[in-house]
Order: sequence, then C-alpha cells, then structure tokens
Amino acid sequence: MSEQIPEAPRLNPAQQQVLDELGSTDRPTFRDDLRDHLRHEIEEAIAPLLDAHHHITVDQPLFLSKRKLSLVHGCEARYLADLTDEFSWSIPAARGTVAHKAIEILITRRGNPTPLDLVNDAMDRLELDERSLGEFIRGLDEAERAELVGSVNDFVSTFVESFPPIKRQWVPVAESRSRANLCNDRVVLQGVTDLSLGRSRGNEAGKVLIDLKTGRPQAGHIDDLRFYAFLETLKFGVPPRLLVNYLLESGEPRKEQVTEDMLWTTGKRVVDAVEKLLALETGEREARRTPSGVCRFCPIQSDCAEGTQHLAVLDDAVAPASPIS
Ligand code: SF4
Repeated sequence: MSEQIPEAPRLNPAQQQVLDELGSTDRPTFRDDLRDHLRHEIEEAIAPLLDAHHHITVDQPLFLSKRKLSLVHGCEARYLADLTDEFSWSIPAARGTVAHKAIEILITRRGNPTPLDLVNDAMDRLELDERSLGEFIRGLDEAERAELVGSVNDFVSTFVESFPPIKRQWVPVAESRSRANLCNDRVVLQGVTDLSLGRSRGNEAGKVLIDLKTGRPQAGHIDDLRFYAFLETLKFGVPPRLLVNYLLESGEPRKEQVTEDMLWTTGKRVVDAVEKLLALETGEREARRTPSGVCRFCPIQSDCAEGTQHLAVLDDAVAPASPIS
C-alpha cells in the first residue's frame, strides 16, 4: 500500500490574509553605509546635550526604551509622574505579559499544544519568576487566577486561529532583544520585539517585526515598531522590511513598510526625547499636559483637571487598552 502524503493544513481566510500580507516577496535593498550614517548623526546630535550632565556616565547611562519615548513624547506631566510612581500588577496589566509568554512557548514548543495548555505553561513559568509578576501570580486566589487564564486564553486562541501556523523555515524569534550603546556608552537604547520572522540576505531586507497588542489600536503603536526597526538597523546594518502591529482582539495585522526616511525620522525622535527628558528632569523645562486616552492609566489623573475633563467627554463604551501591551 502506498504511503499517504499528509495534506498541508488549510488556512482559514484570516490566516490566508496574514500570510498574503506578511509573505510578500518585495524585499528592498538598503545602502551599505546606512548604519554608520545613522549612528554618526544621532551621536553628533546627542553628545552636546550631555555636556552639562556629568552624572550620565558609562556606569549610570541614560536608558531609552519604547515606553520612555512614548511617555516623553506624549504627556510630559505623566512622564514625570511615572518616574516616581511604583507600578503594581493587576489582572488587566498582567494579561499582555502572560499572552506574550504563551505565544513565545507556542513558537518553541514541540507537539500540538492547545491555547489553554500554552496559557497554563506560561502562568507556571511566570509564577516561578522572582520578580514582581511572579509574586503577583503567586498571590492570586483560584478565582482570580481563572479570570486571568480565561482572558489570556481568549487572546491566544485568537492568535492560533487567525495567524497561520508558524514554520521553522520562517526563522521565528520571540522576545528578541536589541540594544544600541551610543556616545561612549553614556546613552543606551533598548527594546524587545515580540516576534520576528525571516532574515536579511546581504543588504536585502527580509525580516518582519511583529508587536502583539492586547488592546485597541493606538496611534503611538507604530512608533514603537519604528523604534525597533531603528535598533535592528544599528545592530545588523540592514533594516527589517515590514513592521506589523498584530491586534489580538480582532486578529488583524496593521502593517507598514520600512523606509530610510522612517529611520531618519525615528533617529530625530530619539534625539528630541533625550533633549526633552534631560530638560524635564533638571527642571529647565516645564512639563506640558497632553490629555489623551492614556489619561485612564495615569497615576495623577485624579489631580489633573485636563485629564479628568478629557476622559469625561470620551465615549466610555470602548474598552480601554492594556497599559502593558
Ligand atoms: S491625566 Fe492625562 S493630561 Fe493629566 S497628567 Fe495624566 S496623562 Fe497628562
């Protein structure tokens, strides 16, 4: 009897859409010296800003992450409040982190685990973590734990059902870390990409960076990915080709092609952030208040008339986004 060749799994329309949108063969080529130029220009712009800040040293560098960038370019008053606010975990805040861990396990684990298996594995691993999230999970009672597992199971099930099965040949990497040390290691840019697929060939871009979002779309999400693309370029010399915000509630990919202009604009955004946050921290600049949807998660919202007024006029029917994802 002849051996049966297993049929390739059929994709549903949502999975096929993701495959079509992410699997394009359009691979732009970038110039050889792009990384050197970007690094040179950004260091030239930042170095004079550090002149009056001798406390920023190789041992105590200025760190910039996507969160810090988005805070300082969003509401400056909230950025300052965030410096002193002690973060505490809650079920809505933990959902994004547990979902990311479950999807990381999906990519690396053999076999065919169900979404619920993945979520429980993620909870077990995070629970062992010595840091505050582990402590938070260990402190949950059975009902609270079930609530967290249930809401994350929803996200992971959506991902499994709407994202095509990830093949090893796509070179998937979860939680990929990038870091750029600038100005004699006095300034450090760092970021963690939720998922990357593919890789470059020579100067030909091939990588797709994917950020998994557990809340509703926000205008600033694409800036997070542009920052990661900037870090990737400083790290490898070749930018990724595509940036994708993947919305876990709707199973929708929101994508943007990477261009050289985008990288220069992001470099400028980093320089502006360094300038602003140095001036804010020394008091040379008065913090501006810029109300938006993120006022909901602001630690000083109850004392902020602008933020409270803004929230009062927003349509509260729309569910708020997780502050963590
Ligand atoms: S409530 Fe809104 S406007 Fe007020 S400080 Fe916070 S983020 Fe800024």
